[in-house]
Amino acid sequence: MRKTSEDKGRFDKDDFDKGGGGEKRSFSKRRGCRFCGDSPQLLDYKDKYLLSNFTSERFKITPRRISGICAKHQRTLTTAIKRSRHLAILAYTTAQN
Ligand SMILES: [Zn+2]
Repeated sequence: MRKTSEDKGRFDKDDFDKGGGGEKRSFSKRRGCRFCGDSPQLLDYKDKYLLSNFTSERFKITPRRISGICAKHQRTLTTAIKRSRHLAILAYTTAQN
């Protein structure tokens, strides 16, 4: 109940702020692969924190359309994540009870 009223309030405010401007904000601002380009980030299967940026809450690998990296590095990343899963650096899934 409370949540609904909050949502409604926010919606009204957004509606008010718009004022006719047709600006749409996309899901991800950054375009292009972070492992390519001028200062490429090193993709390492031992880098737990880097790889966990590309997994969901349940440790699924983030799809390319969301992560926004190129096909070549998505393949590299997938291999790296699978490799680190095998070495128990990353989890395969959350614990089932
Ligand atoms: Zn790339």
